[in-house]
Amino acid sequence: MGRTSKDKRDIYYRLAKEQGWRARSAFKLLQLDAHFSLFTNVTRVVDLCAAPGSWSQVLAQKCPAARIVAVDLQLMAPLDGVVQLQGDITKLTTARSVVECCGGPADLVVCDGAPDVTGLHDMDEYVQGQLLLAALNITTHVLRPGGSFVAKIFRGPDADILLTQLRLFFDAVFCAKPASSRNSSLEAFVVCRGYAPPAGYEPTTLTKFIEDGFRFTDTTDSMHGRLVPFVACGDLAGYDSDKTYSLDEHYVWTDPLQPPTIPPYKAALARKRKEL
Ligand code: SAM
Repeated sequence: MGRTSKDKRDIYYRLAKEQGWRARSAFKLLQLDAHFSLFTNVTRVVDLCAAPGSWSQVLAQKCPAARIVAVDLQLMAPLDGVVQLQGDITKLTTARSVVECCGGPADLVVCDGAPDVTGLHDMDEYVQGQLLLAALNITTHVLRPGGSFVAKIFRGPDADILLTQLRLFFDAVFCAKPASSRNSSLEAFVVCRGYAPPAGYEPTTLTKFIEDGFRFTDTTDSMHGRLVPFVACGDLAGYDSDKTYSLDEHYVWTDPLQPPTIPPYKAALARKRKEL
């Protein structure tokens, strides 16, 4: 693998290259699974916002017999055992394609979606929250009762509202921070177990449900005072994702198992050579 400053900066980036994961995010899902056993008896699973595909790689490895449907705005390089869709998860048409491709109710839906960050924190957190609600919307179309949902959340000032909204759809909701997610980042993951939508809820009505202040049932009062547990997971005595590790003399450099498929710089270099 390359000896760039980025390698030295981030141990999980370097491990991902060595182990053949398309992104360091793979470790986040692996560490969440180590704590929550997400993949037990999973026969259908949906990976929302899946590109470049490291979570799909984890799913394909951990649930080899499952039907795996992966969706992203961007095209992904093919992966064995993964059905890929290109689409926007905020669109109803995408929800319908996911349901169709899944071929039956899913046991697990995961979403590592992140919008392009603007640097305006309030705006970024808001858009991330909307992406999570879009993922929840698709989830309500495709998840079986009792199934699980895992999604990225930013722990900003409005996170509690989102957690309360999720708590209405699931028996148990946790907010988890895997060791590979940088402490310096607001990122965390909601792990929601036991899908049980409120009485009267139809999968097309999430927006109305939220706008109406969850008034489909009388559960609102009972929501007050419920705390969502915060869980740190992964080997907490292991690598610190915020720390710089220097390599000792025993370290052996290895090439990445999967180099970039079409690195954009290649086309730029070819163009430049032609011009010379
Ligand atoms: N879990 C992935 C992995 O392990 O390789 C990494 C996901 S990356 C952090 C976030 C992804 O969210 C990007 O690929 C982006 O295209 C996708 N995304 C953002 N907004 C989206 C939307 N509205 N619909 C579908 N995908 C979206």
